[in-house]
Amino acid sequence: MCEKKVCIYCLKDSSNTRNLEHVIPEALGCKDTLPKGTICDSCNSYFPNMDKNVLYNRYISLHVGTAEIPGKKDKIRKQLGEKLFFPKKGEFQIVLPGTIPAGELQPGMEIDFKIEQSKEFKELLFARGIHKIAFNCYAYKFGQSNALQNRFDNLRRYIRYAKTNELWTYGVRDSHSTANRSCSTLYETDLGPYVGLRLLSLDFFVSLTGWRHELEAEIIKNGYDIISRRGQWGSSSLLGLQK
Ligand SMILES: [Zn+2]
Repeated sequence: MCEKKVCIYCLKDSSNTRNLEHVIPEALGCKDTLPKGTICDSCNSYFPNMDKNVLYNRYISLHVGTAEIPGKKDKIRKQLGEKLFFPKKGEFQIVLPGTIPAGELQPGMEIDFKIEQSKEFKELLFARGIHKIAFNCYAYKFGQSNALQNRFDNLRRYIRYAKTNELWTYGVRDSHSTANRSCSTLYETDLGPYVGLRLLSLDFFVSLTGWRHELEAEIIKNGYDIISRRGQWGSSSLLGLQK
């Protein structure tokens, strides 16, 4: 006889679940999955669009391409969305602005360029995607019964059923590291549980029970930008890639 299980996102019966959810999307190089029944099949089939949108972030997609992170069936992908192609193995094509004549290019010369954000990228969905991955990491580490605590009810509602314009604040910085391409660290603080999430070249700082402004000064001191409204990913010179 099966033990009754409840999905950590929709709180419905997940005892007869068939599919497995990756803790961090497989496309980011993670093979670990949550135990069967942690997430129901309905939520599991709702999340792929959210995960794909995380990949559309310009810094993450650039890294997925240049680091040749294998996708499903360990195949190196050649394309992300409609706009970003990885033409050859070990090569990433960047079209420079037409302001520098080719003859003036010198080795070691610094050039400003902008990586366009894919039009398919949705910032509000991205924020939910980051929270979903962070909550998956929590459930992976502390188990399903802990993830079912009432204090996470707002979080699961936000991730699974957010209203159109809702954006939960989070922190992001350049990780300046190629070690541990995807990993998470969990902090229990007086102001609630937080997850430090590394996704390839980016570090995220995510609250699991709602953002507390008291923490911001400390987070900024540690090099994070605070994403608190729509439009920041599209326009900012985040993370030193473009100044
Ligand atoms: Zn569910």
